[in-house]
Amino acid sequence: MMYIHYCRHCQHIHILNGHKLYCPRCCGHLTELKTPYIKYVNMDRDARKALCARCKDPEQLLLLTASPKKTYDYAKWLQLSMSNVENYHPGNYTAYSH
Ligand SMILES: [Zn+2]
Repeated sequence: MMYIHYCRHCQHIHILNGHKLYCPRCCGHLTELKTPYIKYVNMDRDARKALCARCKDPEQLLLLTASPKKTYDYAKWLQLSMSNVENYHPGNYTAYSH
């Protein structure tokens, strides 16, 4: 999977394979953007430039950053709702034990 990363040090957007922490160009700390790869590759030159310009603004960058905490909470929520489903249908499991 490819992910969009922004490097504040060389002010450049890098498309990298996997979740990378360090810039391949200057070894600076990268910020992973929540913009999906497929969306980015379909952007035209102006849209990419605009995205890059937004990344230069720390406040905008915060809005564009993929939040690992959110993903974790979502996974937890998903797990929780899945265990609820199991509890609601105990009949399905007894059927399999025969
Ligand atoms: Zn860099």
